[in-house]
Amino acid sequence: CGIIGCVGRDDETLDVLVHGLSKLEYRGYDSAGVALSGERVDVCKKSGKIEDLREALESRTLGGAAGVGHTRWSTHGPPTDENAHPHLDCNGDVAVVHNGIIENYQELRDELVTAGHTFKSDTDTEVVPHLVEDALADGLDNEAAVRRAIARLEGSYAVAVVVSGDDTIYAARNDSPLVLGLDDDAYYLASDVPAFRDFTDRVIYLADGEFATLSAEGWRVSDVDGDEVDKDVDTVDWDP
Ligand code: GLU
Repeated sequence: CGIIGCVGRDDETLDVLVHGLSKLEYRGYDSAGVALSGERVDVCKKSGKIEDLREALESRTLGGAAGVGHTRWSTHGPPTDENAHPHLDCNGDVAVVHNGIIENYQELRDELVTAGHTFKSDTDTEVVPHLVEDALADGLDNEAAVRRAIARLEGSYAVAVVVSGDDTIYAARNDSPLVLGLDDDAYYLASDVPAFRDFTDRVIYLADGEFATLSAEGWRVSDVDGDEVDKDVDTVDWDP
């Protein structure tokens, strides 16, 4: 299973994501998908191999400068197209990819269903876009909404989120790996360096509880309170 994200590559975003997913294949997976955020959020996802996703993408036009991709190793729900990530909120404005297990998902799901949310998958992950949607409906801005959603999660997660009309990737981790890749005007995130090593060798390893925002303008890492964290930028010493 794995996550890849990319901003700042303009119309190359989709190719970068699919390339990154193929580099993460060694981690094992049963489904794959991508979401691109432009004016709206476009999603394409399939059970099966990256090749199946590539085929599905041939008949689609996905626009948007910020994108996230995912290879799934099912824990909650069988490997179907519906259960593949990214997962969306009811309006289709928030797309989420997640590695790990959200331990309190049933309780959150019950709460969200009672509040009127409709779920399309069997996954633990799908609570996240709905939690973000709820926070947006309460008037929070995108970053604050994602933060409020993450704060509700118990368990293990590497999560990346895109929201329509916003070319920013919001990401957080707890007990699941997540690393940022920095180029001059493009930024990446992934479960592991090989996903973006063809593009950059400068990396930042996120720690548990940290929150990252990536946009074409730059990157920022903060703690749960939103305070900036001073991160070391490492250089990987192996070639792609
Ligand atoms: N628990 C999530 C699911 O079953 C994520 C699995 C993963 O780490 O790929 O969809």
